[in-house]
Amino acid sequence: MTTYYEKEIICAICKNKNTYEMTSSFNALGSCDLDTRPPEMQRSTMLYWTQRCPGCGYCATDISVSEGNMAEIVKSPEYQNQLKDKSFPKLANTFLCSSLIQEISGSYQSSAWRAIHAAWACDDFGLKDSAKSCRIKALSMIRKGESKGQSFMKSREESLCIQVDLLRRAERFKEASNLIKILLKEDIDDLLTKILHFQKKLIASSDKKMHKVTEAI
Ligand SMILES: [Zn+2]
Repeated sequence: MTTYYEKEIICAICKNKNTYEMTSSFNALGSCDLDTRPPEMQRSTMLYWTQRCPGCGYCATDISVSEGNMAEIVKSPEYQNQLKDKSFPKLANTFLCSSLIQEISGSYQSSAWRAIHAAWACDDFGLKDSAKSCRIKALSMIRKGESKGQSFMKSREESLCIQVDLLRRAERFKEASNLIKILLKEDIDDLLTKILHFQKKLIASSDKKMHKVTEAI
């Protein structure tokens, strides 16, 4: 079960003090989605993964801490527009703002993960185009990070497997197929091979929906 508690936190940017609900423990039972989205109960704790200051709009996993030029980023029109962008649910904007801070700070892989979390928040509201744009942003952040030596997953193969799912779900089937072809020629482990064959089938039927790892094995 999930345990909740409340904590008073002072925003590192505007010094507003607010009470935030936090989670201290949760179960995760069952299979992940192909893009690593966890099963319940962890799946439902997404609301608590990133804090959002109601004063200045600073979004971070811990808003009591800020580094470098984060205060300037939060005050920028680009950030403030993202915070209130009506084409995304509020939770997705929280993740996208956090993603933007990470991107401008040069932490591209953290930025990618937050964009993926934003996509999941859009999925929950059935907002397909918004989810697609979050996945495209995640792909661009993963690639930018890897070009600068930042690893997205433990291995290159795992990273490419996630990229296949992001591409498929963003309806970029041809690019996803090309990646699968490259990977299946390599010596990769059994689980990834099974996932890639499953992705191949999904792409053949233009399936852009969410699927679980257990379906592939
Ligand atoms: Zn604040």
